[in-house]
Amino acid sequence: MPSEFELIARFFARPCDAEPGVVAGPGDDCALLAPSAGSELAVSVDTSVVDVHFPQAAPAVAIGHRALAVALSDLAAMGARARWCALAATLPEADEAWLESFAAGFHALCRRSRVALVGGDVTRGPLSLSVTVHGEVPAGRALRRSGAEAGDILAVTGALGGGRGGLAAWRDGVRDLDDPLLRAYLLPEPRLTAGEVLRELAHAAIDISDGLLADLQHLCTASGVGAALQPEVLPLAEGLTARLGEAAAREAALAGGDDYELLVALPPEALNEAVNRLQTLGLPLTPIGRVVGEPGIHGIDDSTRPTGWQHFPGGTP
Ligand SMILES: [Mg+2]
Repeated sequence: MPSEFELIARFFARPCDAEPGVVAGPGDDCALLAPSAGSELAVSVDTSVVDVHFPQAAPAVAIGHRALAVALSDLAAMGARARWCALAATLPEADEAWLESFAAGFHALCRRSRVALVGGDVTRGPLSLSVTVHGEVPAGRALRRSGAEAGDILAVTGALGGGRGGLAAWRDGVRDLDDPLLRAYLLPEPRLTAGEVLRELAHAAIDISDGLLADLQHLCTASGVGAALQPEVLPLAEGLTARLGEAAAREAALAGGDDYELLVALPPEALNEAVNRLQTLGLPLTPIGRVVGEPGIHGIDDSTRPTGWQHFPGGTP
């Protein structure tokens, strides 16, 4: 196996000292970064583990994209502008064709999201990718989970259930990355631009990584409110009903997880502007209910209430 330094030099190091805010990129013990004046740093880390978060046989280009995308989604949820990232990769072997494809997927999303890869680490072991992302938000203006108010409209970007539907498509043998469900699962798009737009309009936001119901509950708990949901109006991912059938498609949209869309709570008077501004980004924003004062999620039949993804069900979150 080539050394860690050879792997980093060949597949991951990209000159980034010319990138905005990068005082020194890889090559010293730390990267040195200069946040913009008047901003706060938003920092998040996400680990993607083989056969837990993605199938071992998934295309390497998609694994590279996805590892970064799920981390960037948390910046989008706070309305932060993505700036820098670092990658810690644990690899079972140094398969050069695999690494080239993985790095292509990772770097392509870096370029599109204007994120500089400023550091990294390669170790040997079962395939696992940890991505730390740094974003910036004007001081005091981050979109928090805790700002929802009774009377707010709840709305979601894009469509729901694609993560679960794409996993089902993969298990059914679909391998074409142009398939809309497989794309939603393996090539999710972090809603960074939408997050920055919504930061100016919404009271609260969260990204839907654990499933709509679970993440709505997180938002409600943080805000000390409840929600009246209209499950019949949820926007379903393209091809979802055909793949799963009507009932399972509705459950996937409610609780499937891995959707990486944004759930926001907006004052009613801001809804039209939010819909129109996201429309210019080609992204639908669909109202799905309202924030209410009474805690709990209302509008869902308790006997069929699905639960969101948990790594350690029953344990402390
Ligand atoms: Mg999140």
